[in-house]
Formats: sequence, C-alpha cells, structure tokens
Amino acid sequence: MWWIASAQAWDQVGATWAPEDRPVEVWLGDVGDLPDSEVEAAAQAAMATWSDVDCADIDLVYAGRAPDAIHGSADGKNVLSVLSAAWAGEAALLSEPVIVRDGARMVEVDIALNDHDHAFVTSGADGLTTFDVQGGFTHELGHLLGLWHSTVADASLNPLLDGRPQATSLAEDDITGLCEIYAVGTGGLGEVCGEGPDCASGTCLADGADRYCTVTCPDDSCPDGYDCLDASGDQVCVKASDGGCGCRSASAPGSGALAAGFAVCWMRIRRRRVAAEVA
Ligand SMILES: [Zn+2]
Repeated sequence: MWWIASAQAWDQVGATWAPEDRPVEVWLGDVGDLPDSEVEAAAQAAMATWSDVDCADIDLVYAGRAPDAIHGSADGKNVLSVLSAAWAGEAALLSEPVIVRDGARMVEVDIALNDHDHAFVTSGADGLTTFDVQGGFTHELGHLLGLWHSTVADASLNPLLDGRPQATSLAEDDITGLCEIYAVGTGGLGEVCGEGPDCASGTCLADGADRYCTVTCPDDSCPDGYDCLDASGDQVCVKASDGGCGCRSASAPGSGALAAGFAVCWMRIRRRRVAAEVA
C-alpha cells in the first residue's frame, strides 16, 4: 500500500531505493523567480555530491526540466522545485520533502525550497537572512535517499544547516549513513552471496543450490574453473561442472564414443544453462 507523508510527520528513515529502481532520476521543476540556469547548476551539483560517494551503490541522475510538474503530486517524477507563490507548506519551513513509499521501498520524492517566506539565492547566502539553493537541495536529497536528520554539527543532514552554504558538502556522518544503506558489495567471483548487492559486480548467480557472485563474460572468456554460459539472458561465468567436461575439446572425427560423450556433456551444459538464474 502506498502512502504519502510530509517531512514533519515522518521522523525516521524507513524507505530506500530498491536496486532495480537505481540509478534514481531527478527532475528540476518550477524555479520561481530565480535564474533558471543557476538553479539547474545548483541542482546538478547537489546530485553529484551524493552520487560521488564511492562506498554507496546508488547514483542520482539529472533527468532534465519538468517546469510544469507540481510539487507533491504523485506523477512518477522525483522533482526539485523552488517555490515562491506556489509554496503551500508552513511559513517557518525552509524546505519540504514529500515522500511516497510502498512499505520500505521508496517510490517518489518531491522536494521544494520555500522561497515564499525565505529568501533563497544561488550564491552569496549568509544562512541567516538569505539561504543557499544548493545547500537546500543537498540536504533534501539526503532525505530523498532515505536519510533523516543528524545531530552531528557539520552534517549536511543536520537540520540547523538546511539551506546553509555549509550543507553543500557532505560530512563523514552523511557519507557513513549513505553507505550503510547502499553498501557496495565486495564479493568476488565465486564468493557466496544472497543477492546482487553482495557482489562487487552486482550479480549473484543462483546455480542449483549454489549462490555465488559472478561476472559477465561478453568476450566469452572466464577464469579457469568457469565456463561462460547464458543465464537469464546474460553471458556470465558459471562454475565448470565437476569431472571436467571435455566437450569443448576437439574430438577425433568418426569416433562414435566421443561423439556420444560430446552430446552428453552438451546436454548437461544446457540443463545448467536453464537452471542458472541471476539473482
Ligand atoms: Zn531536513
């Protein structure tokens, strides 16, 4: 079941982006009275700040302008806006994320900066009478990613820094939070895995009772002990079957026994091909 909550009512992290929903596309909507290109640059810089975190398996992708998108509408687009007359939230708020989630799965997040009751600028903000667009977006994108507030003084997600120039860069605390949610897998080829994110390649192969990290083999070559086979439409390295199937070796022509052996081996590979699935 989907539900929508405003920031004020949702005080803990409870939803994240599923692997199949990544990278996350983010659009730029209404920019109010501010210079279009400067807000766009600030939005892209804020996205890059989060995407550049190496230990997290998630990226934000700038999808372009959506000037007619309405903040808070469940239209399938994650939209950043700077609202002047259109701001409908509380006057005291500097910004607001509207979060749509399906249980623990993030579905859509719209973000608006309150340029109606506060003065947002794209440069030179003092953080007292004027507020920074990039700082506001960076803080709010943390919420979009599933992080909530931090009490660490220099964290972008410290609510006291929302909309301040200091919020444009991430503190160790922000990075640690993101990487705990979207940990990059470290499993190498052949290591046991539960699902794709456990693996450095992002691909966990279910081969019968075995589940192990695999890699793709577009050039048809795999390390010793692995065959390049088709699993769910992807060419991946699959552990070679026990007993060393010789079916890929040249066989002597005219030998009935070898020809039969080839057929048996080939059928075994075909069965493995069907059984192996990418998890
Ligand atoms: Zn916040």
